[in-house]
Amino acid sequence: MTPSHNIQNLSSLEQLQQYQNQYKDCRIGLVPTMGNLHSGHLSLVETVAAHCDKVMVSIFVNPAQFSPQEDFASYPRTLEKDIALLANTACSAIFIPKNEEIYPSNAALSIYNLQNYPDVEPLSKVLCGVSRPHFFDGVVKVVCRLFELVQPYCACFGEKDYQQLLILQKITAKLFPTIKILSSPTKRNAKKLALSSRNNYFDAEQLEFATQLPNCMKETVQRLVSCQSKEQWQIILKEAKKHLEKYFSIDYFEVRDNDDLQLVESPNAKLNARLFAAVYLQDVRLIDNNPIT
Ligand code: AMP
Repeated sequence: MTPSHNIQNLSSLEQLQQYQNQYKDCRIGLVPTMGNLHSGHLSLVETVAAHCDKVMVSIFVNPAQFSPQEDFASYPRTLEKDIALLANTACSAIFIPKNEEIYPSNAALSIYNLQNYPDVEPLSKVLCGVSRPHFFDGVVKVVCRLFELVQPYCACFGEKDYQQLLILQKITAKLFPTIKILSSPTKRNAKKLALSSRNNYFDAEQLEFATQLPNCMKETVQRLVSCQSKEQWQIILKEAKKHLEKYFSIDYFEVRDNDDLQLVESPNAKLNARLFAAVYLQDVRLIDNNPIT
């Protein structure tokens, strides 16, 4: 880790352009975030740093990926703390665009509509895409717009949001084929709960409850790995869901293929699959995934 005491805050497109001019011979790596940073985000900074000359972190709470009922207004915004956290990392610039810079009224962002890409769009229709139909379209829009503005050499996304990572890998290969997409493993707290900005909504007791999710997922994966029959496979998933229902309201708890996200309903295809879960603890949504290995 290279402590950087000269982080530049880029809070306009002019400042972004000055930075790009200043480092025009450097490979810039981008870490897109919505802020409220934790060590999961910082691990992406480290991953990117190993592949490029300058690391830029963007902080933008993207309205397009929230539905009107979701927590856009209350999403934690902690810019000063985020800047302080990044000061001890390899990050050299923080890009903090304004809404009208990401979504100018005259920009032709409709080219980034997922429905234009029929070989990618199906990936956005399962798992999180069922209960959050707006979500991946919003994510793809903001990331493509950031790629258009920053023109990074590479960008990194977390495996915690595996479906998002997969969709962004596919869309980038089509629209920005020169940008290298990197990924970073899920960072967890001491009790194995995946770090997430939304964990901040929990009090101590809820945080303890929340750890039931990674514990149950780990145990389920272990059982699935040694599972021999389709019947047993279904029973293992059913029992796990029954256990989770004591603590959460379940959105999905499914095994799907790593590449096409098709349902895996028997042990036959388990070597290239993962267990995906989304649950609500009160109103707070938690997601996680684990490879079946
Ligand atoms: P967010 O700010 O939540 O939109 O996340 C920005 C990036 O950080 C995304 O690529 C996420 O997948 C990644 N990320 C979030 N939480 C974690 C975590 N616990 N471990 C690794 N990466 C994460």
